[in-house]
Amino acid sequence: MKALILAGGKGTRLGEKTQLTPKPMLLIGEKPVLQHQVELFKSYGITDITFLVNHLSESIVEHFGDGSALGVRISYYNEREPLGTAGGLKDLEGILSEDFILLYGDVMLNMDLSRLLDFHQAKNSECTVVVHPNDHPQDSDLVEIDDSRRVTEFHSKPHAEGKFYRNLVNAGLYVMSPSILRYIKRGKKADFGHDIFPNICRKINMFGYNTAEYLKDMGTPARLEKVTSDYLSGRIERSSYKYKRACIFLDRDGVINEDTDLISRHEDLNIFEFVPEAIKRINQSEYLSVVITNQSVVARNLCSYDEVKVIHNKMEALLGEQGAYLTGIYFCPHHPDGGFPGENVNYKVNCSCRKPKPGMLLEAAKEFNINLQKSWMVGDSDRDIKAGRAAGCKTIAVRTGRSTHTSKLYPDYWFEDLTEAVSFILGNPYQKVVEKVDKHVVKNGVKPFVIAVGGRARSGKSSLSKNIEQWFEGQGKKVLHVELDKWILPQTQRGNAKNVFDRYQIPLLTKDLQSLIKGKKVTAPGYTIDPMAVHEPVTYDPSGFEIIILDGVVALSMPEIRELTHQKLFVKIDSELHKQRFFDYYHWRGKTESEIFYLFESRLKDENKLIDMDIDYADIVI
Ligand SMILES: [Zn+2]
Repeated sequence: MKALILAGGKGTRLGEKTQLTPKPMLLIGEKPVLQHQVELFKSYGITDITFLVNHLSESIVEHFGDGSALGVRISYYNEREPLGTAGGLKDLEGILSEDFILLYGDVMLNMDLSRLLDFHQAKNSECTVVVHPNDHPQDSDLVEIDDSRRVTEFHSKPHAEGKFYRNLVNAGLYVMSPSILRYIKRGKKADFGHDIFPNICRKINMFGYNTAEYLKDMGTPARLEKVTSDYLSGRIERSSYKYKRACIFLDRDGVINEDTDLISRHEDLNIFEFVPEAIKRINQSEYLSVVITNQSVVARNLCSYDEVKVIHNKMEALLGEQGAYLTGIYFCPHHPDGGFPGENVNYKVNCSCRKPKPGMLLEAAKEFNINLQKSWMVGDSDRDIKAGRAAGCKTIAVRTGRSTHTSKLYPDYWFEDLTEAVSFILGNPYQKVVEKVDKHVVKNGVKPFVIAVGGRARSGKSSLSKNIEQWFEGQGKKVLHVELDKWILPQTQRGNAKNVFDRYQIPLLTKDLQSLIKGKKVTAPGYTIDPMAVHEPVTYDPSGFEIIILDGVVALSMPEIRELTHQKLFVKIDSELHKQRFFDYYHWRGKTESEIFYLFESRLKDENKLIDMDIDYADIVI
């Protein structure tokens, strides 16, 4: 296969830099962007390359010659006058007898080209356009594709007011059949994006290949700088589908937008104000961001399949206005329970995509080559957590949804909202501590190694404990995570409880933990925050475990247990932040402001003051 590279651009937006050097010859790291492109083609066996040159072409010829130094064959076509991205191609009609690749000379990229070519072939495509979301869709030309990836429309900027389009932008790389050239007029200036594609997309077999790999033009000083730093950090190399990527999967309602129940009109979609910033931070990291949502509104016939897409287009537009984008959006339009008046029977099926089934996550993993074990599912319902777990992801529940109030949820981590969840995933605040603990475990060698994690309620103990658990499990060790909350007295039996130690039934807890550490099976009375729920006993069997984590407010409060503990951690928290979390938490549990205030004041006296004294026993204070 032949590759053509449009290397004639003037690069006027780069100012001084391109006065003496043509844009494609600017260095990214140690070599020109054009050389990066040539080497990528070469690595996929594409060695027949033509440069379309114009501005300052001598320096390109001087650098590349006939290409033999790089193991390729390079020929040159000198455009007498610049005819845009399409115009000059007409003169090459004679030498193009089979499908070819066309790439803009200012695009820094790394991608698995064999996947792209397979797609082109499988679709029997005449023209495949590589597309991706960007961080400024409102002033980009957008490409519309349908579920089969067929291109149905090109929307040039500026976009009409009140219209919402999917955030998919032409990335400047095409695979084409020579038959496309019949739509280009000889000697006339034309651009593919503006003049050719919008007119022919519905006439020919044209497809969009959506990828999360790295393709970015370096045509402004800021972009040149960004591309250079991405190259030097290795980010460009790692973005190729040759490697698996990690992803943050996001539920929609209650995580991204207010869950106002069965949203069937785009007017009813309101995204939380903190969400664009949180997603932008995901975009700046190397995680992908994919929405996974059940939308039974279609099966219930509250709106059509296409109307759900409009709602998603609005979501992408609102995010895009603030520089955030999603790698993909998957939704399940089905619902399993049929037989209701007015329903859309076509969608009343027991599908494999509706959460808690992991179907949509698995499909996304295939499309974007995702490593599910390194990925996260953030949701607000039992269904989200189960789907995430079934796919093999780590799970986070956030309290911004409605479902968290009513269902029993067992995520790996709890956070207030997406902002906190993303902060945790991206900058794991516990990593250093976990590594310290690891050193002790290795040095000490004792089995089971007992770790106690104490500190005030809502200080982050559970997150730290979960982190330690996942870290050691990642090494193949067996970890028993004991939640001391399971010994708390139920609300109804606390009449005589004077302080935190009475609430935790300390004598019983001490006795049970002593037995447990000695290798005996114990059964905790069980406790749940829901006063209406049944408190089911929980059995902990320590046999075969190499690490035991005692996670709870009173973990460092019992001298008999401290003696048996190999590593004592105390999680300290800033009082303002602690108060904030305390109020947020009890708001979520449905208490009134005055109830929370009263509770906070009494906990300060009968719990926090007592627990803070344990700090003196800690090996590590976090
Ligand atoms: Zn489904």
